[in-house]
Amino acid sequence: MARPASEQTALWVLRKLREGGYEALFAGGCVRDQLLGAPCTDYDVATNASPKQVRGLFRHVLMVGAKFGVAMVVHRGQVVEVVTFRSDETYSDGRRPDRVTFSTAREDALRRDFTINGMFYDPIAKKVIDYVDGQEDLQARILRTIGSPEQRFDEDYLRLIRAVRFAARLDFRIDPATEAALAANADKIVSISGERVFDELRKMLSNTSAVRSLADLQRFGLMQHIVPELFDADDHWPAAMQRAEKIGHYADFLLTLAALLLELPSRVIGRICRRWGASNETRLALQWIAKHGGDWQAAPNWPLCKIKRLLAYGQFDRLCLLWLAIEELDTGQTDYHQLLRKKIASIDPDQIAPPPLVSGEDLLGLGLSESPKLGRILNKLYDAQLNEELKSRRTALAEARRMVTEAAAPNA
Ligand code: ATP
Ligand code: MG
Repeated sequence: MARPASEQTALWVLRKLREGGYEALFAGGCVRDQLLGAPCTDYDVATNASPKQVRGLFRHVLMVGAKFGVAMVVHRGQVVEVVTFRSDETYSDGRRPDRVTFSTAREDALRRDFTINGMFYDPIAKKVIDYVDGQEDLQARILRTIGSPEQRFDEDYLRLIRAVRFAARLDFRIDPATEAALAANADKIVSISGERVFDELRKMLSNTSAVRSLADLQRFGLMQHIVPELFDADDHWPAAMQRAEKIGHYADFLLTLAALLLELPSRVIGRICRRWGASNETRLALQWIAKHGGDWQAAPNWPLCKIKRLLAYGQFDRLCLLWLAIEELDTGQTDYHQLLRKKIASIDPDQIAPPPLVSGEDLLGLGLSESPKLGRILNKLYDAQLNEELKSRRTALAEARRMVTEAAAPNA
């Protein structure tokens, strides 16, 4: 997968477009971030060349979004999104604009969501091109829709969440008219596809401003429609938020999401993940963390084998941070956490998930047949190995022989 473009690569693309006789400007997020003096991770170029014309100018162009005016120029392992100036479109299916009409820079600015996202920058002339008074709002630190908020949200309700995300990330105020329209239309978010919503949530929770985003989503009534399951019981949301407040600063999307969903039953988490089109990996991680969320008091006293099995799972670090957060919230102390840490520190990393000393083949060789019994014995042997009771293959095989004999006894 190609990386987002550096400024240098985006500039190279912009120059080539101009040499080809087209207009080309930096657009959107990178202009905003540059004016804020914030690091920009992704440069978009806007042009009056159509995607087909863009393809004619560069060797390697991906045309996946061409119908919507986007061509991706790949250069030196980086990808620059080249967006054709286009005018407004509606999103009747909540996924994609129905129709796009190629147009001018001015119209392209007007179809964008917020004033601070609607500016262009000419890096050759070093000039901001601002048809939407974005610079003023940037100065005053205000998030405001371009044009009537009611109308702009009505075109695409995903903008409701985006408003919250940008205001939180930049620590901006939301303009009162925009804010009123946000609250008034919160329930419409259900018309937006789960995939688009999830994408925005991911960006939100991957930022240190996650907690403000979540608080705002709830304040405007959006969260109640995004995860209604968290509002089934009165105390669900406040508890979820308390956990999020403890760990939101890690800017770890999965950790914060796990903190929110921790108390929900596994099948409900499954349903939410399906609604969002989340990967199986994400779903399983969230379900695993939720399953063990309540074990923070018991875990330090578990047998070594049980602790090691948890440690071997890729989500253990997140679980541990959540356990710490819950313990602090419940007791104001960190005693259990410290006990567990001490126990973990004494474990040799090579002994967390060592190769088994005894295999299924060995048990078959000892006369056991393929059966659930075989699986159970293998498991017991591996637990004993993890508990460091069996340290060599010789002692493990002797124990296996004893277990097989015992299992073969008539009353076993
Ligand atoms: P980020 O750093 O979070 O990616 P960004 O500003 O680059 O911020 P994107 O979602 O990547 O945000 O979108 C790029 C630009 O496209 C935005 O700055 C905005 O001008 C425009 N845009 C994106 N989504 C919408 C939308 N739903 N409605 C209107 N304009 C949009
Ligand atoms: Mg972007």
